[in-house]
Amino acid sequence: MKHAEILKRLIRLSHELGREDRHLAILGEGNVSADLGDGTFYVKASGSQLGAIDAGGFSRVSLKPIFAALDQPDKTDCEVRKILEACRVDKKSKLPSVETFLHAICLGEGGAKWVGHAHPVSVLKILCSKLGVEPFRRHIFPDAIVVCGRRVAVVPYVDPGIRLAVALRKSLRQFLKDKGVAPKVILMANHGPVVLGQTERDVLNTMLMLDKWAAILTGNYTLGRPRFLEDKISDRIENRPDEHYRRRAIGKLK
Ligand SMILES: [Zn+2]
Repeated sequence: MKHAEILKRLIRLSHELGREDRHLAILGEGNVSADLGDGTFYVKASGSQLGAIDAGGFSRVSLKPIFAALDQPDKTDCEVRKILEACRVDKKSKLPSVETFLHAICLGEGGAKWVGHAHPVSVLKILCSKLGVEPFRRHIFPDAIVVCGRRVAVVPYVDPGIRLAVALRKSLRQFLKDKGVAPKVILMANHGPVVLGQTERDVLNTMLMLDKWAAILTGNYTLGRPRFLEDKISDRIENRPDEHYRRRAIGKLK
């Protein structure tokens, strides 16, 4: 796919995630990225608004200096800014988001082609509660398993930026080691979800299903508590061939 087409789709994805009626991200919240397949990727620039972003709201950055920085993450804010300035392919483009490190890991190690991060009200109602990530460790209805994955990866609360990216990388690597596949959803405690997708539609679908899952969970807790599916039923849905087919078909929807 041509870079201009990827950028066009990234803008469309940003507008979908930033729609006010969806309550996924407001003001400067959230960010998105897309792999360009040549060691570089587009990522939202710092301060841009997802709902109103245009091509100037993105920066194209190189993976290599980002990964080099992640190997020595004990950096001052000033040093992090210098790395973000230096990793830009076009030095005239805006400063990339401080979450560029996190996007680099999802694209470079998590097998994602497209990544979306938001602060959905529905998900934060649970993630910022005393229950934290626990309600998301089991399932309550089949479509969340099909679209969001049987299991989500989890990251404890860490200051956003390079340290958060290092914590996310640790969680992602453990997940890959334990499950043999990358997660579709990574939940960051007291912060929000990161969605790893193969297409821009995949990212949006997963975020919307996660939003619905969270809203239903909160409703379940107000009516007593959720009636979770048995683990073996969730495992069966995850592995059904017809569900694999459905998953692929949903990801391709335009
Ligand atoms: Zn965030």
